[in-house]
Amino acid sequence: MTPVLELVGVTKTYAGSPETTALRDLTLRVDPGELVAVVGPSGSGKSTLLQIAGTLERPTTGAVRIAGSDTRRLSDASLAGFRARHLGFVFQQFFLLPHRDVLANIAQALLYRSMTARSRRAAAMEACERVGLGHRRHHLPGQLSGGECQRVAIARALVGSPALILADEPTGNLDSVTGGQILALLRELNSAGTTLVVITHDRDVAAAAERRIELRDGVLRHDTGRGVTNGSPARPAR
Ligand code: ADP
Repeated sequence: MTPVLELVGVTKTYAGSPETTALRDLTLRVDPGELVAVVGPSGSGKSTLLQIAGTLERPTTGAVRIAGSDTRRLSDASLAGFRARHLGFVFQQFFLLPHRDVLANIAQALLYRSMTARSRRAAAMEACERVGLGHRRHHLPGQLSGGECQRVAIARALVGSPALILADEPTGNLDSVTGGQILALLRELNSAGTTLVVITHDRDVAAAAERRIELRDGVLRHDTGRGVTNGSPARPAR
């Protein structure tokens, strides 16, 4: 099985005085179908890990492979298209376009695909229904609740059927009931085959994930290693 994500010996050092090493020699493999929670105290490197796994930042040393492709071989220009095809992102702050309706926000994720506007819209409608927002499809983000905005962001992340969805504190801006609904949606998507890596401070989210990895000072301190249950034995903790 080709891993969805492979980090091999990844170190990330930010310049400055003093310089900061946010990740140290991190090796991690995520297989198709996994739901992985990334936990750790503030400053432990969680967001840096998401940025690097999402090809938004390049590591200082080490390799990042997404769905078998070594991202070191890709130019900055081609990375944007690669990212749009293979990755979906969900952030705490939603990052929706305020003047575009729900469908247009979702369809925006398909702009890099060679698809007609009509088929982009049809795919957006399907994703919109999938997150339970069909009846809100013509609303603007300002007319939606926080939970609904996050549903739009999730639909935008999944509309292109990416190999991996990376989520950074997806319930961080939501009350606990709404956060629970978003968690249920993420679990439902995972059960249907979507691979997810979720950075979280939320105990419920971490508890819901089959696999938890913990960072401390940029080092992978613990990995429950319980990945997909596809008949093969769960990987031991590393
Ligand atoms: P977390 O998400 O766990 O809070 P981060 O990945 O944001 O941790 O940060 C890890 C370390 O890297 C912290 O010490 C932080 O200050 C530092 N850091 C993160 N981003 C940058 C940056 N762009 N420039 C300099 N230092 C950074």
